[in-house]
Order: sequence, then structure tokens, then C-alpha cells
Amino acid sequence: MTGEAEAGAFRQVFGDPPAGVWAAPGRINLIGEHTDYNDGFALPMALPHTTRVAARRRADGRLRLHSTRGDGRVTDLAVADLASGTGMDWARYPAGVVWALREAGHHVGGADLHFDSDVPAGAGLSSSAALECAVALAYDELYGLGLPGPELARIAQRAENAFAGVPCGIMDQMASVCCTEGAALHLDSRTLARRQVPFDPEGRGLALLVVDTRVTHDLGDGAYAALRAGCEQAAALLGLTALRDLAAHELASALAELPPELVPLVRHVVTEDERVAEAVGHLEAGRVGALGPVLTAGHASLRDDYRVSCPEADLVVDTALAAGALGARMTGGGFGGSVIVLVPAAAADPVAAAVHAAFAAAGHRQPGVLPAAPAPGARRIA
Ligand code: ADP
Ligand code: MG
Repeated sequence: MTGEAEAGAFRQVFGDPPAGVWAAPGRINLIGEHTDYNDGFALPMALPHTTRVAARRRADGRLRLHSTRGDGRVTDLAVADLASGTGMDWARYPAGVVWALREAGHHVGGADLHFDSDVPAGAGLSSSAALECAVALAYDELYGLGLPGPELARIAQRAENAFAGVPCGIMDQMASVCCTEGAALHLDSRTLARRQVPFDPEGRGLALLVVDTRVTHDLGDGAYAALRAGCEQAAALLGLTALRDLAAHELASALAELPPELVPLVRHVVTEDERVAEAVGHLEAGRVGALGPVLTAGHASLRDDYRVSCPEADLVVDTALAAGALGARMTGGGFGGSVIVLVPAAAADPVAAAVHAAFAAAGHRQPGVLPAAPAPGARRIA
């Protein structure tokens, strides 16, 4: 990935060469789902799949946006008029980043931006965060801001929450900016404290598969917001700042105090934070295979308690386990999207074949299977 293709495409669209090309990856989350907006813990890793932006400053306050995934047209906006992404198409993500930078008091103006990407969109692999973080990093350099990674992630999250209208937590953006090659990112969503945990499945004779169910989720719809509101309500009823503050040994007594509809939500969040700690313990002790049952337990919790899985994701998990996988779980917000599967390397092909066969037998669209190894976070590539 040299940025040459992106620079060439930029020149075709905008006339002159770009000032640089930046890349930001999609992510999978190994464990720690729906914990970030509860101030909890997660363990994402960057994918080798990235969104690239070729970019150049403009002096006239115009923001011009073009994507190989758009309709071919250039979106032309006045930076000073940016207020809300309502009614905008994909442009609301990059425009939101420019808006959020200005909201945070940074003196940034216009730019020409051309995007290319191989992060599947709407597959739970966070193409939206990759898009935002690529813009945040490009603007940081184009306008000489020198912001630290976590601040860029906060800006990108603000863009998605307040401008694009999706109430996501911070995990996706932190993963895209702060992950490093060969490691998973142990993230504390409250403090943004983080640690790189070496993760090398291949070195242990294992493989990690990402299975895109091709069921597209829409986190913009009400379900995600309702879950988030339920967690906030439960924390308030328990007198806590966030569910992260409920320790596992206090769970049973806390659940007895809650209305029945909030019980499974709280049980998921608290046990999921525990699973993150357990997973990190296994990885740090070199027990990569022991991650498997932790993943599978996480899936059961998302399926039965949090209720964000879907039949296709459950089919991938069940089929993969029956065909020899060590563990599997849906990753990302849910309602479709992707499943991660940890397998002995020799079982990777048979497991993938079993999943394809099961989807064919059930009459589902064929899933996509991507290989995954922990890749670098956002960076300049040209
Ligand atoms: P996910 O983040 O899981 O991929 P989202 O629904 O959050 O799913 O984000 C997908 C949306 O992000 C797309 O529908 C599109 O609007 C936008 N998007 C992502 N990548 C690109 C890109 N390279 N070019 C244009 N739009 C993109
Ligand atoms: Mg997204």
C-alpha cells in the first residue's frame, strides 16, 4: 500500500496532486461488546483492511468530498456552514469530523478529500470509524494540529454521535487510531488508558477468521439507542455513574433491585467486562487457544441476554464450533454484521467450508470470509 493509486485518483478528480495520503483501518473486537458506552473494557484489534484518504488543504473554506464508493459526484460544502449531517449521505461522516474539530476550537478550514477503501461497509467492521479516523488524521497533519491519538478518536466519535446521528461509544475510533501491528488493544473506555497485548494466533498454530454474514445492520435505527438508554437507566437506579462501576461480586444483589427488563442488559455488561479481563489474562500467559471458550461465552451473552445477534450470526457460531473451531462470537454492535472464529490453522478451510454449506442449506446469501491478523492503526502512507 503506497498511496500511489489514491494520489492518482485524487489528481483525476481534483486536478492537482494531494499533499499526502493517510490510511485508517477497520477493526474487529475480540471481546468486550456494548461495554464502551458503559465506561467498560474492550479488546479490539485493527484489520489489514483500511480506508485511505488523499487530501489537500483549500484556502477558500470549501470541503470537497469524493469516494470510490459514492455516486461519482463531488460533494461540495462550505465548512463555515456545517451544522448537522441530517439529510446528508455518506458525506456526513467526513464532514462531521471537520465540524467536530471546529467545535473543539481548532482553526481548520477547507480541503479536497478523495477516499478509497477495502473495509466492507455495514459489516460490523467499522468502516464508519475508518472513514472518520482517516479524515481526523489527515486534518491533524494538513492543519498542523499535533493532536494525540485519543483526542483524534474523541473528535471522530463526536462526529459520529452529534453530526452523523449514531450514538456509538469510543471503542471503534480508539481501535482505528491506537491499535498496533501484532497486538490487541486493551482499552478502558472511561479513562482511555490502553495497553497493547501481544496477539499472534498464527505463531500458535491458530487462525482467526472473520465471517461477514452479509446481513447489514443499521446502528442508526432505534435499537442501539434503546439498549444504551436501558444501561444508563439501570446505572442511575443503582446509584452508579456507569455499569462499569458494578463489580461482579455485587451483580446478584444488584439484579434483585432492578426491573426485570433491565436485568439481562446489566448481566451482559458486567459479565462481559469480566470476560475482557479473562481474555487478557489468557493472552498475557500465552494461552491463545484458551481465548476460544471466552469468545463463545461472550456470544451466548449477546444472543440470550443482550439480544443483538441474528439467526445468520448464530448459524456461523454453531456451525464453526461443530466443525472444530475453538470459539466464535459475533463482533461489533450486532443485528447482523460479522462473526469472528478462532480455529486451529488446519481446521480453517474445513470450518469455512462448513459455514458456506450451512448458509446454502438455510437459503442465506453466501457469507464473506476474510483472514485477519492484527494490523497497524491509522497512519500516513504517502
Ligand atoms: P460499519 O461501520 O459497521 O461499516 P456503518 O453503518 O456504521 O457500518 O457505516 C457504513 C457507512 O459508512 C456506509 O453506509 C457509508 O455511508 C459510510 N462509508 C464507509 N466507508 C465509506 C467510504 N469508503 N466511502 C464512502 N462512504 C463510506
Ligand atoms: Mg460504524
